[in-house]
Amino acid sequence: MQRTPGQNENLTRDEAAWRAGTLRMVSCEVDLDLSTAQDPSVTGYRSLTTLCFTVHGTTGTFIDFIHESVQSITLNGAPVDPAKAVAGSRIYLHGLAAGDGEVNTVVIDGHAKYSRSGEGLHRYVDPADGQTYCYTQFEPADARRVYANFEQPDLKAPFTFIVRAPHHWHVASNQSPVRVDQHGDGTATTHFAPTLPISTYITTVLAGPYFVATDTYSRTLPDGSELAIPLNATCRASLAAHFDAANILELTKAGLDFFHELFDYPYPWGKYDSAFVPEYNLGAMENPGLVTFTEHYVFTSRATESQHEARANTIMHEMVHMWFGDLVTMAWWDDLWLKESFADYIGTLANAQATEFDTAWVAFANRRKGWAYVADQLPSTHPIVADIADLEAAKQNFDGITYAKGAAVLKQLAAYVGADAFRDAARTYFRAHEYSNTTLADFLSALAAASGRDMGAWSDAWLRTAGVPRLGIELDIVDSKITAATLTQSGTDPITGTPIAHPHVLDVGLFNVVDGALARTASHRVELAGSTVALPFLLGEARPDLILPNDGDDTYAMVDFDPVSLATLLAHLGTLSDPLARASCWAALWNMVRDAKLPAPDFLAAVRSHAESVTEVAVFTQLLTQARTAITHYLPPVLRDAERAALAEAITDWLGRAEPGSDKQVAAARALAVLARGGVAGPLVDALLAGEQPHPGLELDEDLRWALWQAKAASGTLDESALARLEADAAAHPSAVATSGRLLALAARPEPAVKKASFTAVLTGRDADGSALSNEAVSAIAAGFQLGSRELLDGYYVQYWPELAGIWESMSIGMATRVIAGLFPAAQDLGDDAVHPVMARVDGWLAGNPDAPAALRRILLEERDYLARALAAQRLSAGQRLGAG
Ligand SMILES: [Zn+2]
Repeated sequence: MQRTPGQNENLTRDEAAWRAGTLRMVSCEVDLDLSTAQDPSVTGYRSLTTLCFTVHGTTGTFIDFIHESVQSITLNGAPVDPAKAVAGSRIYLHGLAAGDGEVNTVVIDGHAKYSRSGEGLHRYVDPADGQTYCYTQFEPADARRVYANFEQPDLKAPFTFIVRAPHHWHVASNQSPVRVDQHGDGTATTHFAPTLPISTYITTVLAGPYFVATDTYSRTLPDGSELAIPLNATCRASLAAHFDAANILELTKAGLDFFHELFDYPYPWGKYDSAFVPEYNLGAMENPGLVTFTEHYVFTSRATESQHEARANTIMHEMVHMWFGDLVTMAWWDDLWLKESFADYIGTLANAQATEFDTAWVAFANRRKGWAYVADQLPSTHPIVADIADLEAAKQNFDGITYAKGAAVLKQLAAYVGADAFRDAARTYFRAHEYSNTTLADFLSALAAASGRDMGAWSDAWLRTAGVPRLGIELDIVDSKITAATLTQSGTDPITGTPIAHPHVLDVGLFNVVDGALARTASHRVELAGSTVALPFLLGEARPDLILPNDGDDTYAMVDFDPVSLATLLAHLGTLSDPLARASCWAALWNMVRDAKLPAPDFLAAVRSHAESVTEVAVFTQLLTQARTAITHYLPPVLRDAERAALAEAITDWLGRAEPGSDKQVAAARALAVLARGGVAGPLVDALLAGEQPHPGLELDEDLRWALWQAKAASGTLDESALARLEADAAAHPSAVATSGRLLALAARPEPAVKKASFTAVLTGRDADGSALSNEAVSAIAAGFQLGSRELLDGYYVQYWPELAGIWESMSIGMATRVIAGLFPAAQDLGDDAVHPVMARVDGWLAGNPDAPAALRRILLEERDYLARALAAQRLSAGQRLGAG
């Protein structure tokens, strides 16, 4: 995590383009010695890399290696002095053989560091049994934390991994082992087969005493040959009792069936391993042959259908990447969307069509697209095809635009050109570009050929602009009959300032309250090509109670409801039975709260009245999360206690009425536990922690137990005897959940000494005894620290602002982001200040640090925007209250 100041870990697009233009990879062999990984005093491991490549037009180049030490370098058999060649994280080479077909062989013998940040080779000690586990995570550019390489996606090579480790460990990589040498000293060396040509960011190594479940997928290919893919599913040994490997392997097989049919290109990577690993920084990573997943998908507590659906969605998303991303790879991170948007869209399609989760598009409309709308309204928004000048910018572009907006736009594309044309374009694209790299133009030409349409205007509008289109309905009504009706599009690209006028194919839904229930009476397909289009089907009709543009959620746009439709929703949304329309309407209401167009109390009243009738637990859970956010961010402080109490009362009622043991009961209980951090539902928290069962069927599992301890701590009721019980609980049931749960709870106590220690721990990345905190520990302590009054926390920010540059310089970008965003002042009280104090400080910092790294400024600009949005919403609610007298 720590690095020497001045090391250049960044890499620019221009540098990468120069290297790709002058260099061809032949092969890369990586030999790692993890045999002493179980010794916590050992900080690094030997990493011996042999790179073979040709160059033309140059006799010099540089290799990337973020190392602990470099012992020796040889170039074509001759030694190179590391003291002269190594500069920071780069190794500069001169005197390369540049003749036609001449292959250079470079051998770099060094040591790399075990990681605690989830970047590179992460090492984890299981609190349950003391066993040591290792795994790698490289995207976008952390393979160089493990071995020396050319770290860019368009220098593909066959990789051969050799890993020495304790002999009883499960050691895996992209390929299958070809040989294991036992050494007689308790260690063994596993030699893996060379991979097909792949990029560095999808190479991987897994090593530890993992539990492994196995299976095989087989199918007959169109040419009559038999394809057999060995499968496994892997997790830490101490989690094996909770691991539903059979379900994961079944989903994997269902996905392989679906994608073989859809893509008509046989899975090329041999085996398919799914490894669930601790302290993972993301949901999953598509390493060919060995996908790594967050361990949060091994459910140690009761899992709702929504959690299972999200896991299945991730399994499908990663599997799409075996083709989109691994087989055909973007040349540089500008076109990251060429894999992520496709994986997000086609992954959801697979979840909806090839698994039991036939409501996958409902969660997509409500939850996934919500992420896109948030990102597209931030000052950091960007076109889907982005301008990524360097690796720091690349790291930050794994965002709501690249994933969710891109996926939503591809869903619109499928509606626009037809699903068959979309599928045929993908098939052509894989055949034309297998094992190589592409840009937008390559996909567009395949799409133009398959659809017979010129895709230029479409792609310019949707892929090269930023900002959210807004859809509205304008009506003229005479004598209760509609005499004119138009669908309107508004919005502005925030980067260029030009009006948004995208082409859309969408449905306009008409709904009426019939016998007390809101129901669809008609839906009409509409093509919108500019700022307005007439809706002739409404002429002469009575005004419907609700008009929903984008009924069916085929396009990407926010909805501006007309006043009649909005009033209908607030009064009757609970009676709307169509899941997709209902989820879309809830999402639109939430967007209005965020935009300060709907007062938070109105949204909260709608949640209390209508959320209970939502049948998809993913949406139900999302609504309760949004309601909590509305209380803590979008309400002025003076209104929060009353709204929190009212919501707690409603959830408690639902808990009482929910079917025992049902998903909704679980989701309601978890939501109530988080709400209880604000001091509500104290007796219920105590009763549950005491093992009472006020709600039959509700199990006090690990997740709920730690949520309750956190509520008790944050609400200031964790007295000495309760603290002793918490510690006894953690000691009796040691686990990853307990470790993080305990850290958050302890940091949440509203005591000055606790806040001081927590703040220091996060800021330095070290605990009280000086040992480095892991990525998850930092986030848990920061989250606990933030639970506290402005009076308790505000003093620390005198220290926060001057530290930012130092944090950025001294930590990896992943860790620095956790610290800076995790500690950003969240006490957003409107107070009596004319200028909000946090706003004044962030503005002061931005003005005073115009030359700070762009990636660091982006984090603060985004936090500033969240705060500004919250303050605007608070003013709306405060004004409504004053207006109401
Ligand atoms: Zn992905």
